[in-house]
Amino acid sequence: MEQNKKVNPLDVAMKQVDIAAAHLKLDKGICEKIKYTQRELTVHFPVKMDDGSLKIFTGYRVQHNMTRGPAKGGIRYHPDVDLDEVKALAMWMTWKTAVVNIPYGGAKGGVQCNPKSMSPQELENMTRRFTWEIAMMIGPDRDIPAPDVYTNPQVMAWIMDTFSILKGYSVPGVVTGKPLELGGSLGRHEATGKGVFITAQEAAACRQLSLPGARVVIQGCGNVGGVAAQYFARAGAKVVAISDSKGGAYNPNGLNVSDVLDCKKKYACILAPEYREAEEITNAELLELDCEILIPAALESQITSKNASRIKARIIAEGANGPTTPEADAILYDRGIFVVPDILANAGGVTVSYFEWVQNLQELLWSEDEISERLNRILKRSFTEVLNISQKEKVDMRTAALVLGIGRVAEATRLRGIYP
Ligand code: NAD
Repeated sequence: MEQNKKVNPLDVAMKQVDIAAAHLKLDKGICEKIKYTQRELTVHFPVKMDDGSLKIFTGYRVQHNMTRGPAKGGIRYHPDVDLDEVKALAMWMTWKTAVVNIPYGGAKGGVQCNPKSMSPQELENMTRRFTWEIAMMIGPDRDIPAPDVYTNPQVMAWIMDTFSILKGYSVPGVVTGKPLELGGSLGRHEATGKGVFITAQEAAACRQLSLPGARVVIQGCGNVGGVAAQYFARAGAKVVAISDSKGGAYNPNGLNVSDVLDCKKKYACILAPEYREAEEITNAELLELDCEILIPAALESQITSKNASRIKARIIAEGANGPTTPEADAILYDRGIFVVPDILANAGGVTVSYFEWVQNLQELLWSEDEISERLNRILKRSFTEVLNISQKEKVDMRTAALVLGIGRVAEATRLRGIYP
């Protein structure tokens, strides 16, 4: 089935719940309750464009589950954003916050748009109007957005400003991933990529793989992929390939990560004329390169039943959300490839977002060392908990992480009971 049609991330997310629910022997009613999204808002809204015209955009905010605390999840700007994708991403946020055991539920948002073709003014107009449209759903006690694909601290600043204007006072805790000057947290920018590195390092230790000299391949060089690449390079690993939406740069002797990222910044392209020590490859070729560690850090459904049997990495640490389908998971597990699943590998971002929110609510400022120490502790503890379940239950790391996360949400649901 998966071979011939585009994979729907929501089908993937639903299938994952079924797999974990079977392991947990979950009550059917509780399973149904936690499978479905609690609230979904679709908005169509006008934006003034630079040429004076009005353009209608479609956006979404989905709150999947708030049993364990306020909803939390990023906002994505991408042409392919649709309701099913946002629902799947919201569901993964619920399991992720439960895996690292921080007191949040899961949400996600997005606007269907092509931010690369929009001016800064148009992006600001769109962000402010979208914020107004979803303002009844968000807030520090209800639902706290953050950056995701093609959104950044500036977008968070516009959301915070618009929400604060609506309230009549400053509400920094309404979003995380803000600029430092507006109550952002030290260490938030690096948190997701750093978390991918920390969890990959733990996986490497499990497989007796030494990081210095290990070949690392990274799909995506944005906030997650770019930062992870820097951490691997600093640890002495050899980043042999990295890509953006247009394709990848490959050098079997190792890329100079700083040069590639500088080139991307300067030319919006990773293979500019002045950086030609690398060969150009497609994103599909990149995934199948000979390497020890593969980091998908772009979009969903990259590793499927079509290419899973050709993946050569020994370890996959998922920076992106939903990059691997359940069919591919089964193939990778049979082939002995160690997968650190998204809801663990990329949980560093939401963990430091949680620190940012706590600092905002308490009007405190933590040092970078405090943030780093707390992040390390939470991710290493969570990795060990997931690994223990995987070894005890003889299941892959994704199933183990889902068993841990879904188990916690199910137990919270049971304790709260069903109203009325
Ligand atoms: P970003 O916008 O900073 O970067 C996205 C990167 O993906 C860019 O390098 C872009 O060129 C590349 N890309 C886009 N389309 C691609 C394609 N079709 N093939 C290959 N590369 C492509 O976004 P980000 O924040 O780095 O997010 C990347 C992934 O990580 C997403 O799945 C996101 O949901 C996930 N994630 C992000 C965070 C966070 O804190 N930003 C946290 C957890 C998970």
